[in-house]
Amino acid sequence: MSWHTIPGWPDYQINEKGQVRNIRGCLLTPVRANGGGGFYLCRPGQKVKMSKVALLALAFPPAPPPEPVKPSKPETHPEGGKQSEVQKPKRRCATCKRPTHDYRCPACWKKLRGE
Ligand SMILES: [Zn+2]
Repeated sequence: MSWHTIPGWPDYQINEKGQVRNIRGCLLTPVRANGGGGFYLCRPGQKVKMSKVALLALAFPPAPPPEPVKPSKPETHPEGGKQSEVQKPKRRCATCKRPTHDYRCPACWKKLRGE
């Protein structure tokens, strides 16, 4: 059974069972017979009723919560709403100057090929 000095109460120690003793080694009597009411702890100018749960929490602080794992968010690519632009012809037919995607418009190619 290990005794832990209660943080903030250097004159008192507590064990895992929630038993409290003072530095002289005397067990403190719980406020209530069943031990549920806590203990009266004294420090200069003070007499404070501390619950067993509170003292246990002081002496045996819970392990820090594990580092939260960041959920890997799928990168969102905002799509939709953006209509694919109608491809505008960037070129003009070398012969008739009509807009076309090729060097010449299909009609002029046909003429050129003698079709
Ligand atoms: Zn043309």
